[in-house]
Amino acid sequence: VRFAPSPTGYLHIGGARTALYNYLFAKKMNGKFILRIEDTDLERSRPEFEKSQLEDLKWLGLTWDEGPDKGGDYGPYRQSERISIYKEYAEKLIDKGLAYYCFCTSEELEAMKEKATREGRLPHYEGKWKNEEFWEEARQRLASGEKASIRFKAPFKSYVLQDEVRGRVVFPEGMVGDFVLIRSTGLPVYNYCCVVDDMLMKITHVIRGEDHLSNTLRQLMIYEAFGSSLPVFAHVSLLIGKDRQKLSKRHGATSVSLYREESYLPQALANYLLQLGWSHPEEKDIFSLDEVSQIFDISRFSKAAAIYDLDKLKWVNGQHLRKQDIQTLVEQAKKVLPANHPFLAMNSNWQEKCLSLFKDQVNFLSELEGVLDENVFTDKINDSEKLQEILSWDSTQIIKTKLKEFILTIDADSLSSEVVEEWMSYFKSQNIKGKNLFMGFRACLTGKDHGPELKDLIPLTPLEIVKKRILSL
Ligand code: GLU
Repeated sequence: VRFAPSPTGYLHIGGARTALYNYLFAKKMNGKFILRIEDTDLERSRPEFEKSQLEDLKWLGLTWDEGPDKGGDYGPYRQSERISIYKEYAEKLIDKGLAYYCFCTSEELEAMKEKATREGRLPHYEGKWKNEEFWEEARQRLASGEKASIRFKAPFKSYVLQDEVRGRVVFPEGMVGDFVLIRSTGLPVYNYCCVVDDMLMKITHVIRGEDHLSNTLRQLMIYEAFGSSLPVFAHVSLLIGKDRQKLSKRHGATSVSLYREESYLPQALANYLLQLGWSHPEEKDIFSLDEVSQIFDISRFSKAAAIYDLDKLKWVNGQHLRKQDIQTLVEQAKKVLPANHPFLAMNSNWQEKCLSLFKDQVNFLSELEGVLDENVFTDKINDSEKLQEILSWDSTQIIKTKLKEFILTIDADSLSSEVVEEWMSYFKSQNIKGKNLFMGFRACLTGKDHGPELKDLIPLTPLEIVKKRILSL
């Protein structure tokens, strides 16, 4: 199988999904996964897009067996380096009488189109070069150095595609006229070089987006002209937004690199993309690429368009975040927090405890900073009405006075869970109980009306901050 991106932009999430499907299918079948760069659109293709797409694919956990950066037996793997191959194969079709040189100018072609439209016909090529009687003239003009395009003689008959996802697709005759394989500039068109490459690279399964279904008709014609067997085609459904419109930036970022920048986990994005249009046989929502590579099966593609839901992705990200061991999470946190964040100055034991306490509150790493600042590193007092009410209770006044005394006399190293529990017990012994105790105690130590368990939270909070909070109440 192959993934064949055009380096004309950043890796799109739809493209990433196609790449994942191909990669997993190759893994499952013990096959080969080829990366081919389709860069024949010289104006729009840029090396930096190729570079960033490759990086994004690697980030997602994909590796390929053959590709422009790796080599392989069927290279080169950049179409711009295969121009002579396309020429050679087009000449074979010319020799068989299945393609011809065309010298029509763009003005002539435009006039043909207009005439056909006026007469209510499909604008198919009707120029003279179609006719064999002019082919000798064509050869002479070519030999004298004139430039020509190479046009394919599209057979007038219907084609049937047995697609793994869409089922039987019938293309009635006459849908396309003779089309260009190689432009007069020497550059081939997508439908042609795609088939030449898929044939020469021995691609057995073409898994790609449904937007390419209509291209398949031209491709079927070209395979037939070369007398080649067909690969299996699987056109997977497209991604759409929740409003059932074509996926666009309104529905969330559409390029993989933006998710990467926003510190999403690659395994989560891969998991979520895979689920869009493919379902796990055990209906699992959360899985790893490794796990799925054992069971991936193209019969589980869905025909219906897949709805891209950013909230669901965030949830999946949260699930993967929490599945990781705590040391990994600490390492990731260190990478996303700003260089001067107080978290980074703490010892690893503290960092692990801290993230164990807060990991359930975040769905992705970039939320960590806010949660840590809000709960651990702030001396600000919440201005909620509920907090004001708690602070107005007589019992809270008693707690506050005594806690100040405790806190002002303790040193930072001694502020442990046990100490927090002892303080609690002290107030219980003073007959402050239930809601009055729990809420009052929390309000005085944190300046908030809710949050994590105090015996876990307070030992993690810098003593200076706890002091500032209680002194400002
Ligand atoms: N270069 C094409 C694209 O990026 C590849 C289509 C195909 O897989 O055949 O859409």
